[in-house]
Amino acid sequence: MIPVVMPTYARADLAFERGEGAYLFATDGRRYLDFAAGVAVNSLGHGHPRLVAALVEQAGKLWHCSNLYRVPGQERVAARLVANSFADTAFFCNSGAEAMECCIKVARKYHHAGGHPERFRVICADGAFHGRTLATIAAGGQKKHLEGFAPVVEGFDHVPYGNLNALRDAIRPDTAAILVEPVQGEGGIIPGDPDYLRRLRAAADEFGLLLILDEVQTGVGRTGRLFAYEHSGIAPDIMGVAKGLGGGFPVGACLATEAAARGMTAGTHGSTFGGNPLAMAAADAVLDVVLEPGFLDEVDRIGALLRRRLDAVAAAFPAMVEEVRGLGLMLGFKPRMPNTEMVAKLRANGLLTVGAGDNVVRLVPPLTITETQIDDAMTILSHTLGEAVTP
Ligand SMILES: *Cc1c(COP(=O)(O)O)cnc(C)c1O
Repeated sequence: MIPVVMPTYARADLAFERGEGAYLFATDGRRYLDFAAGVAVNSLGHGHPRLVAALVEQAGKLWHCSNLYRVPGQERVAARLVANSFADTAFFCNSGAEAMECCIKVARKYHHAGGHPERFRVICADGAFHGRTLATIAAGGQKKHLEGFAPVVEGFDHVPYGNLNALRDAIRPDTAAILVEPVQGEGGIIPGDPDYLRRLRAAADEFGLLLILDEVQTGVGRTGRLFAYEHSGIAPDIMGVAKGLGGGFPVGACLATEAAARGMTAGTHGSTFGGNPLAMAAADAVLDVVLEPGFLDEVDRIGALLRRRLDAVAAAFPAMVEEVRGLGLMLGFKPRMPNTEMVAKLRANGLLTVGAGDNVVRLVPPLTITETQIDDAMTILSHTLGEAVTP
């Protein structure tokens, strides 16, 4: 008999009832150190007082009022995102996939509004992940996500991530945009070389294409900058953010320059729930914390520290760890065993991590993780690797 919850996930037999900072408490009372953070969503950890207060206050005033009216929270959060990024304008939605759908629509509409409706194709990267809607699985291009959902949405071409020649060769008269993640997340924590991103920008400019960045996972401080594109010194035309933006409240945004959004007039796009007052209260509170002077510098520092500790553990267990890679607090390592097994062993020892492509174990703790918690996590990791060496 099919479970009442549609069985689309391979879930661990574990449920949590409470969270506090970097810790999660299971229904059996056991405490876990959370280096998964809801897959890079709980950017401020669990139960952050500022976030709780903001949401409780808004919950007592107004939950939802529809985009038939002005939503002051949207105007405030959009103004802050615009003031702190390349963008001139923001559309709010509820998830990463929706943010990326909007990015793709903005790119197509841009060329349509410029008299080139034939330019609709988007060049994407192998190993990409942009969400699970019909268009975003087409953009991701992964067989395992497309299987059984044909016909595939038309208009997405794929080239190897990091290969500029292949990308330039793929540009055609009907190409509208280039879409990549600055650091591939689900694909296996693969940082894009800053020079590669700069050359993508140059290619987009040369051929009149829009550069779309998927910062759903990298955005809002994860890599030690507010947005990962800042590491390369370039800016996109369109960008999707979501995961960390609401600190656990479902919210996403598509950011764009005024030029890129030229086609997005009244009636062209919409969302019933997108940017509702609760979501905006959460995002505003996250931005309060993340934009506080010094916060991102500390993420940068603590990310570098976690990287050094992880490198040291990897060096101590060369027979168990093949590679460490990542950027900021978006790190991963490749165990010399199936990553699913490694994740399960770590979980059994009280440390939550997430698998990613290319057999990677992902470490994406809250941005508020402390040095002591990193030490604790590395102790669990060393112990777990030691157990695996001598079973
Ligand atoms: C998680 C993720 C998405 C999809 O977000 P959902 O909220 O699950 O729809 C898209 N792009 C990237 C890079 C992601 O990491």
